[in-house]
Amino acid sequence: MGRSPRTLAAVTLGVTAGLLMTAAAPVGAAVRFTPGAAGAGDPYFPDMGNGGYDVAHYDIGLAYDPATKGVRATAKITARATQNLSRFDLDFRGPLKISALRVDGRKAAYRRTGAQELVITPPQGLRRNTRFTVTVDYAGVPQKIDDPALGVSGWIATPDGAVMLNQPFGAATVYPVNDHPSDKATYTFTLTAPKGLTTLAGGDLVGHWSKGGSATTRWAVRQPMASELSMIAIGRYDVVSGRTGSGFPNITATDRAMAISPEKAGAFHRQTADVQDFLASRFGRYPFSSTGGIVVKAGVGYALETQGRPVHDLSRHPGTIPSGDLLAHELAHQWFGDSVSPERWADIWLNEGFATYAEWLYFEKYDGKPVQDSFDEKYATPAGDDLWKPKTADPGRDGIFDATVYDRGAMTLHALRKAIGDKAFFRLVREWPARYRHGNASTADFIRFSEQVSGKRLGGLFEKWLYTSGKPTL
Ligand code: ZN
Repeated sequence: MGRSPRTLAAVTLGVTAGLLMTAAAPVGAAVRFTPGAAGAGDPYFPDMGNGGYDVAHYDIGLAYDPATKGVRATAKITARATQNLSRFDLDFRGPLKISALRVDGRKAAYRRTGAQELVITPPQGLRRNTRFTVTVDYAGVPQKIDDPALGVSGWIATPDGAVMLNQPFGAATVYPVNDHPSDKATYTFTLTAPKGLTTLAGGDLVGHWSKGGSATTRWAVRQPMASELSMIAIGRYDVVSGRTGSGFPNITATDRAMAISPEKAGAFHRQTADVQDFLASRFGRYPFSSTGGIVVKAGVGYALETQGRPVHDLSRHPGTIPSGDLLAHELAHQWFGDSVSPERWADIWLNEGFATYAEWLYFEKYDGKPVQDSFDEKYATPAGDDLWKPKTADPGRDGIFDATVYDRGAMTLHALRKAIGDKAFFRLVREWPARYRHGNASTADFIRFSEQVSGKRLGGLFEKWLYTSGKPTL
């Protein structure tokens, strides 16, 4: 996110002269411009993200052509320089071809290097704290990523279209982006496809129109979003629109290729609303302005907490809808992971531990199974099992989706609950997402916050559960 540029022209001289120099140095003063970093500094993914600027908004217009399965798109990025920039990178990978690139409306030089660097040199240096725009016109067939450890992400073809799923990377296969969760931004998606195809994204539906043989929908993601949570779905969908009990617009959709009956599609819609309201009773007000969910046929084998509207790939179970506990998992991420996003990928247990704990809360509420039983079952895993090998809060690049992150993450939260008591624990699970709402937080932040809320020293507990390999003693 960016702030608006400072204008200090009217500031009086005298004591503020020093400030004036940095905000608006006089013409001719020597200002050093240097390149922005090619990464955000995440040890697991050194190529992801970039330095030297902060994106405020992505405005993405994208037209899908079923004949080629490709796209024609324009991405307009509004950002603020955080240093005097001689040049900067965006992340953009794969075969998409750029036809025009402008910075503040003027043609800018660019080259593409490394795994995903789009290196942009504007005609003039960009001054620290000033706002700038980058407009990129491009087209082609985006190429998904198939990572041996982390699965399929990016632009994924479905029977009648495509779906964009970006965790942990993938966004850069579809649009130029500062692709790290530490730089969250608002988005607008304007999606065009031939009439008869449905176009969907996260956020609020703010417009739809048709022209000739094509139809367009526009979606506004009004709260800051990490690029890994951005989502587009295009294809033949049955769509159900309504509202949750607490009044949030609820849009659910099921790919017709999944052969889901209208009754089941209706149940999916209602359960989404019910589970979200249940979670809000535990975690506090839902952090976004609309909700829903999409059942796709993408063959990726996972569900994903895409912001405001999770996606469930149920390719292997045609005719079925997500189970209640899966809905609880993905919707819990809206608080834990989406609104409060990890500072670095090593912190992902803060997403998955809470989402898994939400499943346990769901089982307790809807199936009468105590949370303690869910904990006990997982804790019974033999000490020699791989579950106990990785460090929960440092699982390694290839381990970010390991069972450890999910199950030991949830067990860590339960161990915390036992240590601080129910009252402090349930205050914590409400206050944590409120304190870091629409921002980022690290494991260190969580430890500090837990100690604050409970008034207890918890360093030993977290050291044992998060940073020590091997089965913890109770
Ligand atoms: Zn999850």
